[in-house]
This record gives sequence, C-alpha cells and structure tokens, in this order.
Amino acid sequence: MKLHEYQSKQIFAEHGVPIPRGRIAATSVEARAIAEELGGRVVIKSQVLVGGRGKAGGIRLVNSPEEAEEVATEILGMSIKGLPVRRVLVDEAANIDSEIYLGVTNDRAARRPVMICSSEGGVEIEEVARTDPEKIVRVHINPLLGLREYQARYLASAIELPRENWRAFGEIALGLYRAYQQTDATLAEINPLVRIKGNGLLALDGKMVVDDNALFRHPGLAEMRDIDAEEPVEREARKYGLSYVKLDGSIGCMVNGAGLAMATMDVIKLFGGEPANFLDIGGGAGAEKVEAALRIILSDANVKVVLINIFGGITRCDEVARGILSALQKVNTDVPMVTRLVGTNEEEGRRLLADAEMMTASSLADAAKKAVAAAQGK
Ligand code: GDP
Ligand code: MN
Repeated sequence: MKLHEYQSKQIFAEHGVPIPRGRIAATSVEARAIAEELGGRVVIKSQVLVGGRGKAGGIRLVNSPEEAEEVATEILGMSIKGLPVRRVLVDEAANIDSEIYLGVTNDRAARRPVMICSSEGGVEIEEVARTDPEKIVRVHINPLLGLREYQARYLASAIELPRENWRAFGEIALGLYRAYQQTDATLAEINPLVRIKGNGLLALDGKMVVDDNALFRHPGLAEMRDIDAEEPVEREARKYGLSYVKLDGSIGCMVNGAGLAMATMDVIKLFGGEPANFLDIGGGAGAEKVEAALRIILSDANVKVVLINIFGGITRCDEVARGILSALQKVNTDVPMVTRLVGTNEEEGRRLLADAEMMTASSLADAAKKAVAAAQGK
C-alpha cells in the first residue's frame, strides 16, 4: 500500500525527521487560509500516488494567499497520470541550496534492508542510476542491530555533505530507518532532502510503501488507504479476500493456492500462452467467493478463455462448481472455459458442471493445452 506524501512526512516527523510546516486542503479556500497562516510564500502540492508530480505541473510555488487560492483551484482540477487530484498539501516554501536523495528499501538478494543516498536528489533515483551510477551510495543494514551512526556518517561523507550538516543528517537517517522498520514498510524515501540556505536539512518530499501483509498489525496505517487510487477490480478482489494481480495475457486463471496459481501460470507459458492474471481464491473458498472471482476475471476485456484449476483439499470441488454456476447465471458471457477439478468431492463437482458448456481436463498439462488452443481461436 502506497502512502501519500503528507502521510509519509507525518510518519517521518514522528520519528524526528524535520519537515516543512504545512497542512492538507481539499478546497482552494482552505488552501488560501493555510497560506495566510504560513505567511503567504508556500508550495501547493498535488497529493496523488505517482512520482514526477513536479514535471506534470502538480507542484507550484506561490507568493501570496490569493495566488495560493488560484493555483490550488487549477491543481485541484487536474489529473496526473490518470489520477484525479482530490487534495493538495500546502507547505511553507523552502529556500533550497541543494537536493539530496535518501531512501531505505529491502534488498532481497542481500537479505537485509539497504539505505541508499545520492547527492543528486530531486530527480528519480532510477534516472540517477542510469546517468550517474557512481553518484549513488549504499549501506546494508543488519536487521538485528539497525542502522549504526557510523553508517550514516559514511553516507554523509560519501556524498560530500558539508560537515556542519552531518549531525542533522545522522538523525534523519536513523529516524527514516526507524519509520521504515516500525511500520513494516518496503520503501521509505525522502526525495529531495534539502539543504536550506542558511543552514539545516528538511525533508521536502516523502514516499512510503507499506507491506499489505503487515497491515493487520497497523490498524492506523490501514485506515490511510486511498481507495480512489486503486484499480476498481483490485478493490473488489480485496473485499472478497482474493489475491488478484492483473497481467497482460489472454488466459484468465482461477486457482486455489498461491503456489498452484504460480505453477498454472508457468504451465500456460510452457504451452505458448500468456496468463491474463494471477488469482488465488484461497483455501476453503465458498460459492460466493468463486462467483466474485469469475466476475473479476471476466471484467478484463483481454480474457479470451478462463482456466479453472482447483485442487480440492479444504476447498470442496462441489462448492467451487456451485460458485461457477451461479456466476454464469449472473454474468452473460461467451468466453470459453476449461476446468480441471480434482480432490475433495470432485465427482459431485463434475456432475454439477456437466450441463454447463465447459471443457474439462484430466491433468494440468491437458487443461493448459486446451486453454492455449482456445485462446488462439482453435
Ligand atoms: P515530485 O515531483 O512528485 O517528486 O515532487 P517533489 O515534492 O519532490 O517536488 C518536486 C520539486 O519541486 C523538488 O525537487 C523541488 O525542486 C521543488 N520544490 C518542492 N518544494 C519546494 C519548496 O518549498 N521550495 C522550492 N524552491 N522548491 C520546491
Ligand atoms: Mn520527489
């Protein structure tokens, strides 16, 4: 789950990272009032869950409350990369001397978090990695020890940060790591972290991605979810407890169990097809869940055939069959379907589906071959 800039910065601030004074506004009148409070010179920042808002015109510096109102009206009417701007953050403007990048993420290959830093802040770090890879420095963090002060000092010296900023930088780096660690984040990023003319460091932008699987232990964070920014089908899938990821292929997949779903996708590819999605209905799914899954799969216009691969253990094949039948009554579709049902109550399941027009398969390979052929119009 991605957090908005204002939410991320609030969390950073709770861990001692300095952020500009500012507040969130949903209307231009509110934006004007906040600008007045802050003394007039402010930045109006669109809150949408994509990067590159600056380039898209979604970040504007203004000099007075009147101008804040005008610009907020414009920004609140924008869409950035397809996402409507519903709120703006009004922050006190900063006099920037230089921009730094500082982020923490998980390095799977190293099996530990990594803190990444660059003197080239303000642009996307992927771009710095392409154009100036030597300008990126990293330290791996021992998860039992946490980030050590000497590691933060190493980063500060490696990006040639002036010595007067080292202490503040160390506190920010430690605070950012704590924010990352305590929220079960997979990314916590300040871009840019700026040196202010005169002195001091300030986190101007913030981005966090929190692990969905850890949200159950952070109810406060779970409430921050911005459902506007999500694909409607993904929202629907979550409502029914389905794991659904849309892909670009033409073979819709309905499978129980993440491992079996992965194997199903592999076998589809082996026979020359492309999966349209990953979908795990989970163990013990009842008819209602199956019906929702089928509706979600069929809502994708790229789907030319649906492959239903169920290995009944806790999940009962007859329940799955009932779900399929009730879904077919509600969604009118001529998309062909291939089913492979094995395990608990499989005879009952097959009997229920016998009257529905559906291809059946005896093995996964057989099912995948039939689905690939159907997707290719054979
Ligand atoms: P992003 O484009 O979505 O990453 O949005 P950012 O919040 O990072 O803003 C983009 C750029 O706008 C920053 O890199 C800064 O150069 C500039 N910017 C943001 N806030 C201020 C500010 O308070 N003062 C000044 N002068 N520039 C700012
Ligand atoms: Mn940024």
